[in-house]
Amino acid sequence: MILDDFSLQEKVAVVTGCNTGLGKSMAVALAQAGCDIVAINRRDPADTAAEVGATGRRFLSLQADLGRQDRLSSLLERAVEEMGHIDILVNNAGLIRREDALNFSEQDWDDVMNVNIKTLFFLSQLAARQFIKQGSGGKIINIASMLSFQGGVRVPSYTASKSAVMGLTRQLANEWAKYGINVNALAPGYMVTNNTEQLRSDEERSAEILARIPAGRWGTPQDLMGPVIFLASKAADYINGYTLAVDGGWLAR
Ligand code: NAP
Repeated sequence: MILDDFSLQEKVAVVTGCNTGLGKSMAVALAQAGCDIVAINRRDPADTAAEVGATGRRFLSLQADLGRQDRLSSLLERAVEEMGHIDILVNNAGLIRREDALNFSEQDWDDVMNVNIKTLFFLSQLAARQFIKQGSGGKIINIASMLSFQGGVRVPSYTASKSAVMGLTRQLANEWAKYGINVNALAPGYMVTNNTEQLRSDEERSAEILARIPAGRWGTPQDLMGPVIFLASKAADYINGYTLAVDGGWLAR
């Protein structure tokens, strides 16, 4: 039956940056759909651990600063050692720095690019190698942004990184589809999380954004739950290299 294709029973999902925000709700959604979760965070994901625990699924917490790439391979080795296999990678960890392009620092460029695109690529490479070794395909879901499609203002490294996420999603999909690996992305619109705190506290900017969203509200972390399950599931086996906007219609305007 078709709904069986959405089940993720017996799967293991690795989710980065899931102590809070969108990552947390996606990890919980994946657990509700049947996945054991490997969480990679720099801070203790206590709330996520409790919510995943309540579903009865296993939760392995690995600590790492994803601004560096030197520990990525030992993290995935640890995940496979503990869980036996991995089936899904959600590259969610990301950060934003806001400053006029004229004053933007090299530090703000490197910090953002390191997590948002460099780590995303090398973690995907490691996961794909493992999926190929296991011989049963896999799913990689990258978290893109409206700034994969648009320019934005005062966020040069964020726009560069998220535009690269959409391009790389297509590129990796082309190379890895033949192994049964689906690489796709979710592009959240304007969502209520730490990432948009500064934006939401600017009353004028916040009202302008809201006025442009056809759905008439900001998104919430829960809005990502259905889409991530879909892309992680067998139901999406013939979707490759696509970036799905979850934006209340923002891009349709
Ligand atoms: P968030 O609450 O700030 O979550 C970001 C996550 O990434 C946190 O877990 C954060 O850990 C983690 N992270 C950042 N730098 C890290 C590092 N060096 N090492 C390890 N983890 C690191 O924001 P969010 O909105 O949920 O963001 C999740 C993803 O969605 C990001 O890729 C973001 O760009 C994307 N996104 C968000 C929106 C939105 O409107 N909110 C829209 C489009 C795309 P800490 O808690 O330790 O900082």
